Amino acid sequence: MAYYGAIEAGGTKFCCAIGNEHGEIIEEFTIPTGKPDETLQKLIPFFQTYQIEALGVGSFGPICVKRDDPSYGYLMNTPKVDWKHYPFIPELEKQLGVPVSFTTDVNAAALGELTKGAAKGLTSCMYITVGTGIGAGAVVKNELLHGHSHPEMGHILVRLHASDSFAGICPAHGTCLEGLACGPAIEKRWGKPAKELVEQEAVWALEADYLAQALMQYTLILSPERIIMGGGVMKQKQLFPLLREKLAFYMNDYIDLPPLDTYIVSPGLGDKAGITGALLLAMEAKGNA
Ligand code: ADP
Ligand code: ZN
Repeated sequence: MAYYGAIEAGGTKFCCAIGNEHGEIIEEFTIPTGKPDETLQKLIPFFQTYQIEALGVGSFGPICVKRDDPSYGYLMNTPKVDWKHYPFIPELEKQLGVPVSFTTDVNAAALGELTKGAAKGLTSCMYITVGTGIGAGAVVKNELLHGHSHPEMGHILVRLHASDSFAGICPAHGTCLEGLACGPAIEKRWGKPAKELVEQEAVWALEADYLAQALMQYTLILSPERIIMGGGVMKQKQLFPLLREKLAFYMNDYIDLPPLDTYIVSPGLGDKAGITGALLLAMEAKGNA
C-alpha cells in the first residue's frame, strides 16, 4: 500500500490528510495556523508515521509558482506577517524528504472538483470561494492555471451598484470584488454576520449583483465549462438562482452560455475539494519524480 500526503493550508487552519493510491482520503488531521516553524513541527510527524511517497499542497498565497525563481515555493507578500517570505514548500521537502507539488488553495479545489467532483468528465472548470476572502482557481484543458504568477481573481474590479456607498474593505483596492462581497465585507456593510442576514433580501440581491459581474468577466475571459462556487457565504443557497439570473441579465445573450443550472453549481465534494485536489497533486508529484 502506498500512501500520499495532502495539506490545505489556510490562514486559520491547516487541514492535513493521508490518501491511498486511489486518491481516497483515509485519515485527516487539522491544526490551527500558528507561526510557520511551530505549525510545521506539528504536522511533519503525522506524515512521517505513514511514510508518504509524496506531498501535495493547496496553499493560501500569494505563493511563488515560478520554477526558475529563487523564491519558488516561498510565500510572498502575504498579509499573514509571520509567513511572509517563508520558504514553505522547500521546508516541507527538506523535512519530509519527498517530492512536494503545490498550487493555490482554490486551484487545488478546482482540480479536485474536475477529477472527482462536480466537474468530473469535463476538461475545464473554475472554483470560486466566497468566504473570509474571495479567491478563484481554474483548470484549463486539464492543467492548473498558472502564468507569471497564479491567478488572484477575487481582486477584479466591479462596478459599484447605484444603491451602494460602501467603501469596501480590501486594503489594496478598497472596492474590488473581495472588498465588496467577501463575508467580512457583508458583515461590515450591514452590521451583522452574513448568516444573521438570511431574511434580508436586499443583502442577497446586492451580493448576487457583484458576484454575477465577476462571473460574467470570468466567463468572457476563460470560457470555463463549469463554475463551482463554495465557501461560507455560498452556504446561502438562495444566492444560486439569483446569481444565474443576474449573470444572464448582464450577459444579455451576447454569448451562448451552458444551461445555467449546470453551469453555476455547488461543490460536488463539499468542503473536501481542496484537500482532494492536494492529494491528486501528491500522486502527480510521485509520478513525475
Ligand atoms: P475561510 O474563507 O476562512 O476558509 P469560510 O469559507 O467559512 O472560511 O468563510 C468565512 C466567512 O463566511 C465569514 O465571513 C462568515 O461570516 C461567512 N459564513 C460562514 N458561514 C456562513 C453561512 N452559513 N451563511 C453566510 N455566511 C457564512
Ligand atoms: Zn482587492
